[in-house]
Amino acid sequence: MTMIGNKLQEVRERIRQACLDAGRDPESVRLLAVSKTFGPEAVRDAAAAGQSAFGENYLQEGVDKIAALSAPPEPLVPRPEWHCIGPVQSNKTKLVAAHFDWLHTLDRLKIAQRLSEQRGADQAPLQVCLQVNIDGGANKSGLAPEAVLPLARAVGALPHLRLRGLMTIPEPQPDFESQKRVHLQAHALFEQVRAALQAEQPACAAHFDTLSMGMTGDLEAAIHAGSTMVRVGSAIFGGRSVPPAA
Ligand SMILES: *Cc1c(COP(=O)(O)O)cnc(C)c1O
Repeated sequence: MTMIGNKLQEVRERIRQACLDAGRDPESVRLLAVSKTFGPEAVRDAAAAGQSAFGENYLQEGVDKIAALSAPPEPLVPRPEWHCIGPVQSNKTKLVAAHFDWLHTLDRLKIAQRLSEQRGADQAPLQVCLQVNIDGGANKSGLAPEAVLPLARAVGALPHLRLRGLMTIPEPQPDFESQKRVHLQAHALFEQVRAALQAEQPACAAHFDTLSMGMTGDLEAAIHAGSTMVRVGSAIFGGRSVPPAA
């Protein structure tokens, strides 16, 4: 077992334990391994240890890594699921549409429309989460909570996108209880939006099942508050020399 394989096992155990403590089914939380700043070999190690979904923040880095792992002589089989979790400028939507399976950071209709237009008819729909600025951090990306439902309605109607849920990156909090308090706000909003979609666009609500929240430092609190997908980087791959872009 490689170092990354061992770390992955530890993170899976953290997730399992948090689910048990919270009275949840451990199968109800997915692990997204955030491989930003780490090379293709790190992804291979994690894949060899059973990890199938990877998150990338920096578009060009992600696209290069996906290419390196898709091409001969040693394509990664089966192909991992690639999640874009970083900000996307409107002139970069083509890269997301062409190479990624998921986008977690959608927060503008214009970007959504471009992605839907650029997604190939031969590809599966791009799976998207709307990013919410749940704690009102001043210079953060993400929608204000009251702007989420209007964008969800519009995105739900685009042909080549599939609206899967919400994503948040709360400001770091000092302890479990304050982490959980913020995550619970995101969960409440998630349930509200889901209920509204259920009433208005039931076909769209059927896929609205993902609350992407929790990272290395707060995954337990996020799971207690109802997260269905935790995005974990440093606990699996080690510390990064490049600071994370939120
Ligand atoms: C870097 C990053 C993560 C992972 O952070 P860790 O603290 O290393 O687990 C998760 N989500 C986003 C959006 C990130 O940028």
